[in-house]
Amino acid sequence: METVILGTGNSQEMRIAIDQAVDQLERGSIVGLPTETVYGLAADALNADACATIFEAKERPSFDPLIVHVSGEKMLNNVAEIPDEIADVTYDLIKEFWPGALTFILPKKEIVPDIVTSGLQTVAVRRSKNKIFSEIVNSLESPIAAPSANRFGSISPTSAAAVFTELSGKIPLIIDGGACSEGVESTIIKIEPSQKKKPLIKILRPGPITPEMLKKFGKIDKHQHSSEESSSLTSPGQLDSHYAPNTPLKILNSPEEFDFNPSKKYALLSYRGQKKDGYLELCDWTHIETLSPGSGKLPEAAVRFFFSLRKLDELGVDEIISEPIPERGIGFAIMDRLKRASYQFS
Ligand code: AMP
Ligand code: MG
Repeated sequence: METVILGTGNSQEMRIAIDQAVDQLERGSIVGLPTETVYGLAADALNADACATIFEAKERPSFDPLIVHVSGEKMLNNVAEIPDEIADVTYDLIKEFWPGALTFILPKKEIVPDIVTSGLQTVAVRRSKNKIFSEIVNSLESPIAAPSANRFGSISPTSAAAVFTELSGKIPLIIDGGACSEGVESTIIKIEPSQKKKPLIKILRPGPITPEMLKKFGKIDKHQHSSEESSSLTSPGQLDSHYAPNTPLKILNSPEEFDFNPSKKYALLSYRGQKKDGYLELCDWTHIETLSPGSGKLPEAAVRFFFSLRKLDELGVDEIISEPIPERGIGFAIMDRLKRASYQFS
């Protein structure tokens, strides 16, 4: 299959790209689409056969459920139930963060095919703020299932070129909406009612909506559940090893941990590229990728994270060494991805 990339550089190109994407989705095909987090591989969420094609193209195991993207509250109510006990906090969060990178786990409605939720009685729902994506879900008038547009377990794509590298020949169309503005996948939460004043907000996957931003709405549980626990209950698919490059990746919590081997070639993933942090002069790096040069800004680091990891992976070095990222704000989500990306090499 030939994979076409359509640009959206001007309003005419944009119109054509949106129409073609909607046309493909209506015909039960799958399309690579930009969102503000990472690029998604989209299908009509109510078309079980189309959703099955997502799993096939990504080589994604069927136990890993998909996120369903809606155009607003009406579509949300078509796919999910909002239990009375958590309705107030859910609507408060929607008001504050939608459209945006916050995904809710809610009881699913019958209309959602089992393949989308991997047979669970709950569905993950969010509303994207990406303009192109929103227009497509509006025009389709059906919710869109869209996991990240990469082969299962590999680095998430934050550009149309990265989607092409991952899935060319397996999908007919990619819409190029430029670089993703957030850079890491949405925050996934599950709200539990509580006898106490504040409901419990469980963060199943950290993301751009940070614990600090959520805490005024409830008591935050940041505990990352193990994959064993998650496969049965909470967030299946949040596997310990994920987002992995082909090149071995190691996080060095301090420069002293560096175990230099003179016959190896190394590349560095640096947070802010500062000599005083102690990593830049550890060896003669083949290449240094800096996430946020200067004083270090976490949102900028998030935007560049997957892009930089992909670039380092393509260098052909023996090992990628990463500095740790401060675990505050969106840094908590970046470190979550970094730990999973290095898991199989540790
Ligand atoms: P992705 O679409 O690749 O960003 O990943 C979607 C992730 O959402 C899955 O790997 C799960 O961790 C999570 N997820 C989706 N549906 C559910 C659900 N019903 N319950 C818990 N977690 C879910
Ligand atoms: Mg993914």
